[in-house]
Amino acid sequence: MSEWVSTRLLADRNPNWHMILNEFLSEESWSKTLQPIVEKIINGIVLDQTDGVELFNTPNLFELGRLAHLHKLAMFGNRAYFNSNVHVNQTNICVLACRFCAFRRGKKAEDAYALTIDNYLDELSKFSAFVNEVHSVGGLHPEWTVEHYSQLFERIRREHPHISIKALTAVEVKHLAQLSNLSIIDTLSILQQSGLTSLPGGGAEILDDDVRAIICNGKESSQEYLDIHRAAHLIGLPSNCTMLFGTIETVEQRVDHILKLRDLATETNGFQCFVPYPFLPDSTRLPMAQLSTGQEILRVIAVSRILLDSIPHIKAYRMNIGDELAELALQFGADDIDGTVQQESIMHLAGSTTPLTHDLLQLSKLVENAGCIPVKRNTTYTSFEEFKPPKPAKRLPMA
Ligand code: SF4
Repeated sequence: MSEWVSTRLLADRNPNWHMILNEFLSEESWSKTLQPIVEKIINGIVLDQTDGVELFNTPNLFELGRLAHLHKLAMFGNRAYFNSNVHVNQTNICVLACRFCAFRRGKKAEDAYALTIDNYLDELSKFSAFVNEVHSVGGLHPEWTVEHYSQLFERIRREHPHISIKALTAVEVKHLAQLSNLSIIDTLSILQQSGLTSLPGGGAEILDDDVRAIICNGKESSQEYLDIHRAAHLIGLPSNCTMLFGTIETVEQRVDHILKLRDLATETNGFQCFVPYPFLPDSTRLPMAQLSTGQEILRVIAVSRILLDSIPHIKAYRMNIGDELAELALQFGADDIDGTVQQESIMHLAGSTTPLTHDLLQLSKLVENAGCIPVKRNTTYTSFEEFKPPKPAKRLPMA
């Protein structure tokens, strides 16, 4: 489908994207603010913290978006990606109580739930014929050890062998390791042998321990988040990474966060996709949150694309930012809109109104509306197929 052969490392990027980007950048004129940064990119100089802050503060959002979009075009041409997945949140019972979280419940809450392995598989069976990925994250259940998840993943692999398992955020891995008295790497290895395909990126929030102490006290530290993903990459488990913005963080803290992820990606090549998403305020407990406007969301996506040259994909997470903004974000550096999802609690309990009923055809239309070619991908960005809508059935001739 592409003119080049993709590999796990390329994840469908054009192997000559740096050269193509330089040509694009040289053909356009840039404002005084962005010109020095563009020159650095052309000369292969790694952008630093000051450049990142400059990008966040640059007044012309459309010029910033153009710079990010040229990165995206150089890497992927006009293609934009999605997959056919389902979310199953295995439990909302959590021993922590992060201040931004509208999903967690105490064990005794009326609406607390914990799916047994059979319940989980019943849920998955409803969607199994239409999806090739299950995305599972949940609360930190006080009793489920690695044994529970090992059995769950083995059953999924046995009963739905075509489905990839993207599950367990870094803090869930840390919790399982502690409960099971195992090291992080042993925990991850057991889960991988049981069928785990990759880790989602959730829980990064902002990788700054002062911010974390306020918005998610008790969660893994910034260093632990990075170490858990490093351990996953070391044993060949790829992962995504995220950023929750619009709570109490500064622009400098956002840039530091992005650069920490860039450095780990440069070291391990294990991150596949960066997913920045804004804090949604409903039902949560952070009255001092700054909240993000549409233009702020596009700005974060654009800056991320420009800074994160070692992470292949940037996702416009439609479950969180909505379909309209996700469509626009495909012109501001994003190249992926996630998938069909089918059911989702975490963002919807926090106020998301993104529809959950989209099928692949609707997702492909969203991509086409943004002027892109819709491409269906697998979980690990190793298999790609241009999405062609099914042809309408021919009418039978009148008798
Ligand atoms: S964000 Fe995760 S760890 Fe924090 S309270 Fe919610 S479910 Fe628990």
